[in-house]
Amino acid sequence: MSEINKLNPRILWTYFDQILKIPRPSGHEENIRNFLIEFAKQQHLEYQTDPTGNLVIRKPATKGISTKKGMVLQSHMDMVGEKNSRSSHDFLKDPIQGYVDGTWIRARDTTLGADDGIGIAAQMAVLASDDLVHGPLECLFTIEEETGLKGAFGLQKDFIHYQTLLNLDSEDEGELFIGCAGGSDLSAWFEYDTEPTPLDHKSIQLHISGLIGGHSGDDIHKGRANSIIILTRFLYDYGDKLGIRVHKFEGGNLRNAIPREARAIIAVPGEKVESLISHFAAFHQIIRNEYQRTDPGIEMHSRSVEPVKQVILRDIQKRLLMSLYACPHGVISWSQQMPDMVETSTNLASLTCKDHKILIGTSQRSSLDSAKSYISHKVENTFLLAGAKTKRSGSYPGWEPNPDSEIVKITAGAYQSLFSTQPVIRAIHAGLECGLFLETYPDLDMVSFGPTIKGAHSPDERLDIESTIKFWNLLVEVLKRSASY
Ligand SMILES: [Zn+2]
Repeated sequence: MSEINKLNPRILWTYFDQILKIPRPSGHEENIRNFLIEFAKQQHLEYQTDPTGNLVIRKPATKGISTKKGMVLQSHMDMVGEKNSRSSHDFLKDPIQGYVDGTWIRARDTTLGADDGIGIAAQMAVLASDDLVHGPLECLFTIEEETGLKGAFGLQKDFIHYQTLLNLDSEDEGELFIGCAGGSDLSAWFEYDTEPTPLDHKSIQLHISGLIGGHSGDDIHKGRANSIIILTRFLYDYGDKLGIRVHKFEGGNLRNAIPREARAIIAVPGEKVESLISHFAAFHQIIRNEYQRTDPGIEMHSRSVEPVKQVILRDIQKRLLMSLYACPHGVISWSQQMPDMVETSTNLASLTCKDHKILIGTSQRSSLDSAKSYISHKVENTFLLAGAKTKRSGSYPGWEPNPDSEIVKITAGAYQSLFSTQPVIRAIHAGLECGLFLETYPDLDMVSFGPTIKGAHSPDERLDIESTIKFWNLLVEVLKRSASY
C-alpha cells in the first residue's frame, strides 16, 4: 500500500492514488475516460460520452430524498505534463510518482496533476459513496481544459440536465469563485525587407533577463516588468542618438505569460560602440530603480557578436518600435462591482523574427465581454496604425458574477457552519470552463472551489492535504444542503 491511500478520508485518497497511475496529458484522455467508464459500469451507474470526448456519469438521489433539483459536479480529465530536465518521465506511458511530503502531496520530478485529478477523485468518491445525502447528480468530466478548453467548447445541449454546477477546478481553499474573465488573442505582424549593414558598423547583442514574469491573468496587477517593453524603450529612446540598426528583436514565449527575457541583435557605427555600452549600463540602473520592488534581479548585458550582414529597413524598424512603445500592457480597468478585482487587462506577450516577418503576440482578458472587445480593438489599432497586419483568435467568454446566486449562498453557508469562518468570495482574472458552459446552458447557477494547490503547471505542483480534507467536507455538506433546499 502506498502512502497516499492511507490518508483519510480513505475513499477520496484511494481514487486520487488510482488516478495518478493513469497517463492523461491534454489530448490523450482516452485512458482516463476508459477508466471512468469501467468505474461507472462497476458501480452500475448510467454514463454517456459525447463526440468531443467529454463524459458524464449519472447517479440517482439518495433514497428518501424527494427533490427533483439535481446538481452537476464538474472536473477536467487532462493534466499539464511538465517535468524537471533530469527526468525521463513519459507522460503518455508512465504513472505519476506521487508521495506524501509532510503536509503536502508531491510528485517525483513531474507535475502532480492534482489540477484536476483531485476534482476527479472527489467526483468518484461521491459516486461510490452510499452514506452521503444528495439529490440527483451528474458528474461531468471534460477534455483538454489546459490547452484550449476544447471539452467546454464542444459541450452540446442535453448532455447535462441540471441548473446548478459545482466546478471542482480551483486552487485556493477558503475561497469561492463566482466569476472569471473571458479572453482573446491578438497577433500583429510586420513583413520586412533588409538592406546590407552599413560598412564600419559593429554588431552587438543586447540581452535582458532575470525578470519575475508570471501568469498574464493572475499576476497582471502586480506591476512586474515586461522584458519586451524594457528593450523597446532602450532601442527607441537611444536609437537616433546612437544610430542603432536592428537586425533581430525577440522576446517572451507563451501568450499567457508575462515575458521574462528579450534579446536584440543590432548594428551601430564603430565609433558609437563604447557609448552604446555605457548607455545600456546606465539604462540598466534606471530600470533597476523603477522595478526595485517587483523585479529586483533584472539583468541587462551587452556583448559583441559576429558581424550581421543585413539590417531591417529604417522605416519598418521605426514603425515596429513606435507601435511596441504605444502598445498597452497591464491592467486597463478595475471592477466597479467587486473591490480589488481586475476587470480588464492586456499582455504584450511575445515577439519573434523569422523569414522576413516580425510577429507580435498579445492576449487580452476581461470579465465583461464589451470591455474585452474594447481592449482587443485598442491593441489591434496600435499595430494597424503602424501598418502592421493583425489577426484575432482564441476568443472565449467570461462568467459574470451573479450576486443573487443560490448555490453561492448555500456553499458560503455550508463553509461558515463547518469552519466557523466566512469564505472569501471572488472572481478570478483568468479563464475557467464555466464561461463556456454558459454559452450552451445560459441558466446555470455555478460556483467553483477546490483544495489548495501550489505551483500548478510546474514540477513544483503540490497539493495541501489538510485543505483537501476541508474541500471534501465542504463538498459533502453542499450536496446535503442542496438536497433539502
Ligand atoms: Zn485545472
